[in-house]
Amino acid sequence: MIHRQTLTQLAADLRARKVSSVELVRAFLARIEASQPVLNAFVSVTAEQALAEAEAADRALAAGRGGALAGVPIGHKDLFCTAGVRTTCGSRMLENFVSPYDATVVARLKAAGAVVLGKLNMDEFAMGSSNETSYFGPVRNPWNTELVPGGSSGGSAAAVAARLLPAATATDTGGSIRQPAAFCGITGIKPTYGRVSRYGMIAFASSLDQGGVLAASAEDAARMLREMAGFDPRDSTSVDAPVPDYPAGLGEPLAGVRIGLVREFLDKGLDPEYERCVREALAVFERLGASLREVSLPNIPLSVPAYYVVAPAECSSNLARYDGVRFGHRCADARDLQDLYKRSRSEGFGAEVKRRIMTGTYVLSAGYYDAYYLKAQRVRRLIAGDFERAFGEVDLLMGPTTPTAAFALGAKTADPITMYLNDIYTISANLAGVPAMSVPCGFAAGLPVGLQIIGPHFAEQRLLHAAHRYQLETDWHRRIPERFA
Ligand code: GLN
Repeated sequence: MIHRQTLTQLAADLRARKVSSVELVRAFLARIEASQPVLNAFVSVTAEQALAEAEAADRALAAGRGGALAGVPIGHKDLFCTAGVRTTCGSRMLENFVSPYDATVVARLKAAGAVVLGKLNMDEFAMGSSNETSYFGPVRNPWNTELVPGGSSGGSAAAVAARLLPAATATDTGGSIRQPAAFCGITGIKPTYGRVSRYGMIAFASSLDQGGVLAASAEDAARMLREMAGFDPRDSTSVDAPVPDYPAGLGEPLAGVRIGLVREFLDKGLDPEYERCVREALAVFERLGASLREVSLPNIPLSVPAYYVVAPAECSSNLARYDGVRFGHRCADARDLQDLYKRSRSEGFGAEVKRRIMTGTYVLSAGYYDAYYLKAQRVRRLIAGDFERAFGEVDLLMGPTTPTAAFALGAKTADPITMYLNDIYTISANLAGVPAMSVPCGFAAGLPVGLQIIGPHFAEQRLLHAAHRYQLETDWHRRIPERFA
């Protein structure tokens, strides 16, 4: 069963010529086609192009050439620009937008030989926690199609969980890699801010956005990240530091590793069954020789309010470019310039995006700037300080990824605050810029549960390593929803 193989295994089989890229691409495309009416994970499927790329990869492999991911099928969240294939950002605004260039992440994975099967559905402009804000309709959770897959990278997560492809790119501004990873029972990593180039990644909140990976295992994520990460002169916030060989470092013992359980993550909102799974996972780490203690990050409760000032502020500025003139949707028969702006934006953006733009404009306006925006930035500094202190005492922080497992479609759409609170455990890592992962660690009432692992800046290696050791001991990451097994 090709689709049950890990990316690591597939890459090795391709190199050993046990399977061809064309075979793989055909098999996964058939699964995508069959699943699309049920899951709606894709916005665009690029079958013809994928087969052509697969043939080229097979020729390269036959000649003993090809990069680390030669012939491996992947997908991109639909906010990574792809030359020649539309990039919609889940929005009507960009429904027909075709970028003239590839995002750096796209170019790097292409250079490594990966074959792109399509562009994955997402919350509009990555604003959401359930994938219900997409203009292209909601994505459904492969474990139970009445439930959301999480967001905003819900298409990427659902596709990997249903094994429609072995791995996909994703982005995380406040939890959009980790939360859907948890809801869909897969592995996701949000690297350190600056580790992966944002060039060609359509901006939501530039100081928080970070590209990363959704995959079936930490080892697979490590292989993807090695190709994606690294300095990019075209992104002034990308960091010029060497990229470790992530997969090569995996497998060291955990003896002596100090783990901090974040006390504030065990608040009253946490589902008891979820907590039980997380505690069992921590016991596995202890058995492997790690030491465990409780650690406090006292300002965590302020992370959601601070984020919902900073992120909308940045979004209101970033999305000002969609004016009906240069990019995206333009209304018909504009009477004058004001009318063009107003109607193009009214028609092009959905309700959640409009809510964020209005909130952001408000907190940045004269008179409110100090009271909201500046104060939120100060809180952000305090939260970063909490992490710095914690990482003086421990090597890794752990806790739940989300307060509950996946919820029903429509359950939280009427109340934005309830929806925002779903990100209570993930947002702080973005505010501080530190790397964080979610790893499957059990089931609560039949639904996947995520263990969150957070590290200091540029400790991706340490995160992947700990996650891999855990996955050598457990098989939660190998579980596949029955319908897609
Ligand atoms: N759910 C959060 C939001 O709606 C985070 C989204 C993200 O990480 N892109 O903003």
